Amino acid sequence: MTQTVLITGGAGYVGSHAAKALAASGYRPVTVDNLSRGHAWAVRWGPLERGDLLDRSCLDAVFGRWRPIAVLHLAAFAYVGESVGAPALYYRNNVVGSLQLLEAMRDHGVTRLVFSSTCATYGTPGEVPIAEDAPQRPINPYGNSKLVVETMLRDFDAAHGLRSVALRYFNAAGADAAAEIGEDHDPETHLIPVALAAAAGRQPRLSVFGDDYPTPDGTCIRDYVHVTDLASAHVLALRALVGGATTMALNLGTGTGASVREVIRAVEQVTERRVPIRTVDRRPGDPPVLVAAPGRARGELGWQPQHSQLETIIRTAWVWFNTVRPIENLSHSESTQVL
Ligand code: UDP
Repeated sequence: MTQTVLITGGAGYVGSHAAKALAASGYRPVTVDNLSRGHAWAVRWGPLERGDLLDRSCLDAVFGRWRPIAVLHLAAFAYVGESVGAPALYYRNNVVGSLQLLEAMRDHGVTRLVFSSTCATYGTPGEVPIAEDAPQRPINPYGNSKLVVETMLRDFDAAHGLRSVALRYFNAAGADAAAEIGEDHDPETHLIPVALAAAAGRQPRLSVFGDDYPTPDGTCIRDYVHVTDLASAHVLALRALVGGATTMALNLGTGTGASVREVIRAVEQVTERRVPIRTVDRRPGDPPVLVAAPGRARGELGWQPQHSQLETIIRTAWVWFNTVRPIENLSHSESTQVL
């Protein structure tokens, strides 16, 4: 019998790729998403339950209906800049929403959770590459909100036996190789899609947020990891939990960083177009360098990035950028349930 896995935020960027990977591994992914930022068209590999984690009766109905063996929890707001200006939004959605989910899992006897965490929980790291046991001192509300949830996970394990794998993503990027799904944020603020839009002439220029950082070319360095590699890590983490793994936190990055200027150059090479830029002030909340020490995910899960070369990331993102997006249609799927 096909086993069901709930995936909160399954209509989002990483969530939709994780749903595709779950389905390819023989699970039935059931998406729970309020569609505030996700897209109904991105839910293609299983049913969509449209509802909000802040609504406990919705969660009770979903758990009762589907009896999942586990939950992948990706529903969250994830803009550093927005979180600095609107912290309440982040604490309510990311922290309170997660608490509601954990309580529902406890009450419905579901004991396995893969959680979408972030390198933003490390803040400005003392040492790079960053290992999992580095101090976690976030410098923005987004990172704080995810760190609170990691803490809750350990407490729920101690009290209720909830076992979890927190996956600390570095910079998710790229798109599905078949261009069935990809990044589609509104507004789009992430470096690679914004650079592609500037290359395509869909926006006048890319703003480089600061070129006076203590890095070789003065721009921030990030560890870009392909969204399809992130998706496979979720399936591996799920399998590990099913196999009896204990609660842990793992970095998902490549161990190699690229600066904003290097990304721009790679975008110019892939698109064969110039990216017009202007340098502006630093963006609040941005640490200079975030690069993962990726060894633990390899050791614990056997995870190794397969698609995370910068060129592959940008090429798949460029194909997706040029793919006509499906029209937003909330009633596209007969299995859609509005709770
Ligand atoms: N960045 C930039 N211009 C942009 C968007 C991003 O210079 O229009 C920089 C940003 O300061 C950071 C890096 O690119 O150093 C990656 O930012 P992004 O928003 O893609 O991801 P984040 O690191 O915030 O998760």
